[in-house]
Amino acid sequence: MIVRENPARPSEVVGSVAETTDVDAVVGRAAAAQRGWAAVGLPERCAAVSAALEPLGPRVDALAELLARESGKPLADCRGEIGFALTFARWACATAPEALADEEVDDGAGRLVQRRVPYGVVAAVTPWNAPVILTLLKVVPALCAGNAVVVKPSPLAPFAVSALLADVARALPPGLVGVVQGGAAVGSALVAHPAVRKVAFTGGEATGRAIAHAAAERLVPSVLELGGNDPAVLLPDAALTDEAMDRLVMASFATSGQVCMAAKRLYVHRSLADRFVAAYLAAAQRVLVTGDPLADGVTMGPLVTRAAADRVRSLLGEGKAHPLGTCLPFGDGYFVEPALVTGLADDAPLVAQEQFGPAVPLLVFDDEDEVVARANAGELGLAASVWSADEERAFALAARLEAGFVFVNTHNRTGMSLRAPFGGVKASGWGREYGVEGLREYAQTCVTHAPAAFRAGGAGSGAAAYPTG
Ligand code: NAD
Repeated sequence: MIVRENPARPSEVVGSVAETTDVDAVVGRAAAAQRGWAAVGLPERCAAVSAALEPLGPRVDALAELLARESGKPLADCRGEIGFALTFARWACATAPEALADEEVDDGAGRLVQRRVPYGVVAAVTPWNAPVILTLLKVVPALCAGNAVVVKPSPLAPFAVSALLADVARALPPGLVGVVQGGAAVGSALVAHPAVRKVAFTGGEATGRAIAHAAAERLVPSVLELGGNDPAVLLPDAALTDEAMDRLVMASFATSGQVCMAAKRLYVHRSLADRFVAAYLAAAQRVLVTGDPLADGVTMGPLVTRAAADRVRSLLGEGKAHPLGTCLPFGDGYFVEPALVTGLADDAPLVAQEQFGPAVPLLVFDDEDEVVARANAGELGLAASVWSADEERAFALAARLEAGFVFVNTHNRTGMSLRAPFGGVKASGWGREYGVEGLREYAQTCVTHAPAAFRAGGAGSGAAAYPTG
């Protein structure tokens, strides 16, 4: 049995759900439903998925409150996440009919048909920190492409996403959308199931490695969206306006820093350093209120577990911690007071590791070559940002950063776009979500080709000749 407490008030049980004991039955139902679903036309599938999601609109507030209580994220954040997830779903259902359509050319070179064929059953293993968007990013494109999906939510935030998926599943063929509940053992059983033909995972690096091994064992392709240790680079001409500083603070502290693409290391040019600290502390005073996620005006809640809170505190090390914003009384929740940390070396744990919490190191640099080398150190390469009044200079520097996504003059969710593929390089994973590329992750291109030379009336060619075009 999974029993989940409210991380803001650990004595309050938010809910419980039985662990799935028969993963095989859920995957079996999905595989059976997928055959009929793949035979439905692409536009009709997309319309059916869109219709299945539409009734969720009026339920956003109720789902958001559940998500806030199980995850510790502020209520406004939870509303925002679910609203954004539905916006993505609408966009995906409207874009997929063209993006996933078969393509045919019939010309002087021959007749070529490229079909976008579903994999079969997709396993979606998701984390707790943005469970609704990270689930719909997989489920909606996979269904539109003609797959069935079995989702394994995180045991740390299983309720809102399961309630939402139950509604969606009811409106689609029985078994097409399945949910299994549990932790690593249930996730492993799902990924290893012989009927699963594609794995989509978002979560930590170590889990990503285990899932990549299990998928590779069966030669099943995967999409892996893993952690990041994102640098934000402020060039000498970066604007330190109130608005920019508010955005930079929230880029690190939204969801208490527990976001894959949060600004996790701040590299500030030496000429700005003193002014920067004052501007940053003032911005934090404006935008950071730490307290109960359900209370009005709170922008930062607790961490997800006591262990996560203890780990972040242990990373602070030798640095000087400057407390940020306003903290309301915490009680015994898993809160960590947010801090900007100065005086750390590049190899300090808070700099070198993904902290996934509300403590961000400030590092000073002197020139661009130096900051590129320091920003690119380490194995992770999810996102990054460059802040400058000169857009050309910012884009030129962005191209030198080892990251799947570089924001300019912003960072984190304010810099996302539905049309822009998102994903990591290096150990931050492979594959993409969002954009047409994110939709096409769930279809494989299969070709039928009749070369012109061998069609009726064709001129023929040598029995073993290579094509010339
Ligand atoms: P996690 O890796 O601990 O868990 C993620 C999911 O994997 C959970 O559902 C968990 O139960 C499951 N799982 C754990 N072990 C498994 C195994 N051996 N086989 C199959 N499934 C298994 O991650 P988390 O703590 O929930 O999330 C935090 C991490 O996720 C951070 O590193 C963060 O950066 C990353 N993240 C990445 C993105 C992205 O888009 N790149 C987005 C959000 C979070």
